[in-house]
Amino acid sequence: MNKEPTTPGMALESQEKHASGSGTIPVLAVRNLTKIYLVGQTEVRALRGVSLDVYRNEFVAIMGASGSGKSTFMNLIGCLDQPTSGEYKLLGTSVSHMTAKELATIRNKYLGFVFQGFHLLPRATALNNIALPLLYSGVPKEERDRRAPKALEMVGLGTRLNHTPSQLSGGQQQRVAIARALVNNPLLLLADEPTGNLDSRTSVEIMTLLQDLNRQGLTIVLVTHEHDIAAYAMRRVTFRDGRIVSDEPIATSRSVEVNSSPVQSEEIRDVEPQFGASAEETAILTTDRMIPQPAKPLVSKETGQRPVTAPLQKEPLRAASPANSSQQPSQVHRVKISVLPLLILLALLVTLLRVALRKFFNHCT
Ligand code: ADP
Ligand code: MG
Repeated sequence: MNKEPTTPGMALESQEKHASGSGTIPVLAVRNLTKIYLVGQTEVRALRGVSLDVYRNEFVAIMGASGSGKSTFMNLIGCLDQPTSGEYKLLGTSVSHMTAKELATIRNKYLGFVFQGFHLLPRATALNNIALPLLYSGVPKEERDRRAPKALEMVGLGTRLNHTPSQLSGGQQQRVAIARALVNNPLLLLADEPTGNLDSRTSVEIMTLLQDLNRQGLTIVLVTHEHDIAAYAMRRVTFRDGRIVSDEPIATSRSVEVNSSPVQSEEIRDVEPQFGASAEETAILTTDRMIPQPAKPLVSKETGQRPVTAPLQKEPLRAASPANSSQQPSQVHRVKISVLPLLILLALLVTLLRVALRKFFNHCT
């Protein structure tokens, strides 16, 4: 037998070489995966023994009613949470019993995440949002400067590099999120309801983009509860009550002209309630405190690695140490602006007082 690779990354890399040659190792293979949440004294059986193989270059849609276990499954295959039992192999390497730190390395190196909420840093430009995962993987600045714009070009946003999220439409923000998921060249893209916040026309655009990326070789697992959206995939896996109840190919996956879809404004749709918002943040490290100034590194060398928190906790993940308000340029700026008129007013009052006093003394003498 071969000597065991010393790190999970090395194990995956050696498997990756093997897989690219033979194409026989599934990108992900899960066996009898279960997940039980404890809510007070009550056990919630979210997954009750799920087994699935996904091969390279597949585009799989996970479907099922709300509460059927889709997001729980995505959290497990995204290495954001540990199963209660069962096995999960990523390119042949078991990841079910890895430590939180090892899982963080796997996520950063091999997985890309897209969620219903875009989780972009609100004050950072599209470019800086995309540079974040590169920074966490220790990619040098020149390389980051080369790869981040390229990723934005891939999603058709080459002319929006310096826009902040508020200057972009919902569809464009989701494109930025997709570019961020792609920038590390992931083995697998995991998308949980990526069109959940988008109107139907924009949803079509996003699905067409994902379909294009899949045709260029990207392996995608997408969660949706909409048949129209699943129709863009090649294979549909349906969950019910924590189990897979069907797994079938989609005969002719949809490829619709963008203009043929009904046009609506970019309104926010009613969406399924989402569990695991902080797991999403763990996946993509969403915290605007990590970018005090866009030009500076997002995480200091001292704090080092991206932190790992237990997924599905209530408090949102904060990667940097608790924010020091003096580090927030916009707040400092606001303080300066509000103090200036006060000083002018004070100077004016002092002058008036001096004039009044002088007049009073003159009058007395
Ligand atoms: P879906 O994504 O298909 O809507 P989920 O995976 O979010 O389903 O949820 C599956 C089941 O697990 C539901 O019954 C849900 O209430 C429960 N569940 C999900 N996340 C948690 C959690 N963090 N704590 C407790 N129960 C949870
Ligand atoms: Mg869900």
